[in-house]
Amino acid sequence: MKPYRTVYFDIVGFCNARCPYCLTGGGKEKSGGMILPDVFENTLTKLLRSQVIDSKSVVSLYNWGEPFLHPRLHEIISIINKLNIKYAISTNAAKIPAINGEFTRNLDHVIFSMCGFSQASYRRIHGFDFEKIKNNIIKLVDDCRFNGFRGDFFISYHVYRFNTDEIKACENFASRHGIVFRPYYAILNHWWKLLKFINGELSPDRIKEISEDLFGLGEITETMRKSPASYQCPQHDYLIITEDADVLVCCQLPKHGADFSCGNILSEGIDDVLKRKNKMHVCENCSRSGLAYYINNSLSEPTFYKRSLYQYFLLLKSKIQRLLR
Ligand code: SF4
Ligand code: SF4
Repeated sequence: MKPYRTVYFDIVGFCNARCPYCLTGGGKEKSGGMILPDVFENTLTKLLRSQVIDSKSVVSLYNWGEPFLHPRLHEIISIINKLNIKYAISTNAAKIPAINGEFTRNLDHVIFSMCGFSQASYRRIHGFDFEKIKNNIIKLVDDCRFNGFRGDFFISYHVYRFNTDEIKACENFASRHGIVFRPYYAILNHWWKLLKFINGELSPDRIKEISEDLFGLGEITETMRKSPASYQCPQHDYLIITEDADVLVCCQLPKHGADFSCGNILSEGIDDVLKRKNKMHVCENCSRSGLAYYINNSLSEPTFYKRSLYQYFLLLKSKIQRLLR
C-alpha cells in the first residue's frame, strides 16, 4: 500500500463560525470534541509505524473543525515536530495563536477561509468582526514569516451571489500581503441538505432562499448526470480522521453514524479499517448516482473572475515550489 500523501485530521470537531451552508456551522456537527495530545500522538505514531503515512505526507489539522480553537495547540504542534511530519492549517482567523519557531518548523501551508470582504458579508455568513479578521490574517502572516516560514498562504474566498463585488478588494488585500488568492463558488457543503435537495425533498421556498445566496444549485443534478460510468472517486486517496481517531470515508461525510465511519485507528487493526474504507455502502450509492462526480467537481473558480498578473505570478510560484518539493 502506498502511504497517503494527503491527510485531514480534525484536532477540533467544531467551529466558532455559523456558516449556514456548512455541516459544522449550520448543523449537528457543532457538538464535536477536541483531541487529547496523547491520542493525537498515538494515532500518528501508529500510522507512521504501519507506513500508512510517511515524511512526505501532509497532515492538515482540520476537516470539519477550526484548529485554532484547540487550547493545547502548541502541544499538538510539538508532537508534529517530534514525529517530523509536515502539517497544514485552514482557519477562519477569528482567533489566532502565538507564533514561534516551533509553530513554523514543519508548517507546509496556511489557508484563510473568507466569506467576503465586508462587514455585511461577515455578518451574513461567519458572524465575525471583519476588521479583526483582516488584522488577524496580517498578524499571522507577518509572525510566521518573521519566524522563518517561507511556504504559502492562501485565501480561499467563498463566492456567494452577494459578495461578487468584493472579490477584487480581497484579491488586492491578498496581493499586498503576498497571499495566493483563490476564489471558489460557495457550495451546499452539508451532506444532509445536499441529499434532500437531490431527492427533491427541499421546499420551493427553501430552494429559492438558498439560490439567492449560492450559485449553481440548479446545475448539481446536471453535473451528476455527466459522471462517467467508470468514475473512480479521488476521495479514496485521502485519509480523513476525526478528533476521536475514527477514519471517515471522505471529507464530505458527517462524522456521526456507522454508515460513515470505517473504524477506529487506535482500537482496531489499521489494515481492517482501511479495507473497510474502500468498501463502504454509502460510496456505492454516491458513485452510482453521480453524486461523487459532482462532489469532486464542485469547487470551481467563477468564470467572470480575472486574476491579476501578480496573482498569476504567486500562483505559478506556489505550483513550482510544490513540484520541486
Ligand atoms: S465553512 Fe469553515 S468557517 Fe464556516 S462553519 Fe464550516 S468549518 Fe467553520
Ligand atoms: S463515493 Fe461519495 S461518499 Fe464515497 S468517498 Fe467518494 S464522495 Fe465520499
